Amino acid sequence: MNTHTSAQEKIQLGKLSTPFIEKVAIIGAGLGGLAVAIALRKLGCEVQVYEKAQDFRPVGGGLGLLPNGLNFLDAIEPGIVETIKNSGCEVSKTVLKNTQGETIRTNPASRFQDKYGQPLITVWWWRLQQILVSKLPSESIHLHHRCVGFEQDDHHVSIYFENGEKVSADLLIGADGINSVIREALIGDGKPRYLGSMSWRTVIKCNQEILNPGELGFVKGHKEFMYLLNVGDGYIAWLYRKLSRDYSLSQDAGEVKSRVLNQVADWGESLRSLVAVTPAEQILETPICDRLPLKSWSQGRVTLLGDAAHPMAPALGQGANSTFEDAYELTLCCSQASSIQEALASYQQRRIPRTQLMQGRSALGEMRYYTTDTKNSDQQMQEHSQMSREEFQDWAFNYKP
Ligand SMILES: Cc1cc2nc3c(=O)[nH]c(=O)nc-3n(C[C@H](O)[C@H](O)[C@H](O)COP(=O)(O)OP(=O)(O)OC[C@H]3O[C@@H](n4cnc5c(N)ncnc54)[C@H](O)[C@@H]3O)c2cc1C
Repeated sequence: MNTHTSAQEKIQLGKLSTPFIEKVAIIGAGLGGLAVAIALRKLGCEVQVYEKAQDFRPVGGGLGLLPNGLNFLDAIEPGIVETIKNSGCEVSKTVLKNTQGETIRTNPASRFQDKYGQPLITVWWWRLQQILVSKLPSESIHLHHRCVGFEQDDHHVSIYFENGEKVSADLLIGADGINSVIREALIGDGKPRYLGSMSWRTVIKCNQEILNPGELGFVKGHKEFMYLLNVGDGYIAWLYRKLSRDYSLSQDAGEVKSRVLNQVADWGESLRSLVAVTPAEQILETPICDRLPLKSWSQGRVTLLGDAAHPMAPALGQGANSTFEDAYELTLCCSQASSIQEALASYQQRRIPRTQLMQGRSALGEMRYYTTDTKNSDQQMQEHSQMSREEFQDWAFNYKP
């Protein structure tokens, strides 16, 4: 398996040019759309990002940035990792707790830096989005633009928006997430696959005693668990997950909060109070979903990136990290090819095998959280990708531009 790109490809994006791509339209100003916009602008492309949200709000939960994601972010925008570190938290310890909030085990997190050359950083999704936004000219981001479809011929792609606008580009990138309209038009594979687990998450600022600075906490319950992340500036992200055969999303914020409070009713006060002090409207309830891997991500002058291309269960923390790899490698392929079709063919050839393996292993990893038979779970994951846990981490984290 090829885990590294060759030394010749270690190039600076700013030194390239792509004469056959002038205008690029990106659908989605999530982490993937913004990262690829920054990278493609360095090739000299005129890049426009279209986002359905009306404004950038402080939303999302806590995100873990792993060595491979950080390697690629730094290759796209040198120095950005320092900015993210200052905005989030460099994890020094991981702490396992029981549901009473008592510490069972503590492990140093220095192995990330020592073994893979980058730390483990936890950051608020929204802050990372804002850092990426700050690297783009404001006139290149178009909020309140929900894409509803596109048409393409040999020369252009025309993109249509709900507000009646139409734009034209040489290349269209669908970075519009797990429910991508671009994917639906290209592939039409219907709704995402529910993986049998529900998630509730938020970021809050509060006085708490459960997590020391620099710590990342994991609370293991029975068919339920909680992650606790320091995300910088005194903010804490909590993320509660529970095995749940069916899912029904509530439209009522108070009911959503009651659901979580009922689930953690017999947990220790230090944990329960985190949920209790959270304003109900800040709790995001979502089903955990993925999709099956695709054989192709592109048609003509249209392609997919990030969750639109390879949505995966969050178990291995590779959703955003693998998306930063996509952003860099798509840009690299555009810089090295002599046509859009050649660029997109080599992009998917590089990316599909790697992300396919991550998708499969992440879906299996999801169930590891809920089982007491972790040995059997690990064996299934090992059989899936012929790699032990440690070999998988080496393969994932050592990947470099
Ligand atoms: C608001 C939000 C909060 C998140 N918070 C977390 C988190 O806390 N922790 C975590 O691990 N992951 C989080 N994620 C998911 C994580 O960002 C992704 O798994 C990963 O980063 C891949 O990103 P992406 O850019 O491919 O997709 P996404 O992050 O899903 O971004 C897709 C973007 O496309 C926009 N969009 C969708 N459809 C259209 C359309 N038709 N027209 C125009 N725009 C459209 C969406 O509004 C969104 O901004 C969050 C995603 C979102 C959208």
